[in-house]
Amino acid sequence: MGEIAEMMLNGFYCEQCGCLIDGEETGYPRLCEDCAEEERPHKRKRNRKKAKRK
Ligand SMILES: [Zn+2]
Repeated sequence: MGEIAEMMLNGFYCEQCGCLIDGEETGYPRLCEDCAEEERPHKRKRNRKKAKRK
């Protein structure tokens, strides 16, 4: 739990779903593309679940 939580805080993993984002550490928590899309009330695509990207 500790390590992953830390990596999430470093922006390595999505802070919401915990998936790998792009392999970079930003030093602050961030969201993966899927979660970021859900966060934005703006453009709402088809509601596919965040299963797999790519
Ligand atoms: Zn996510």
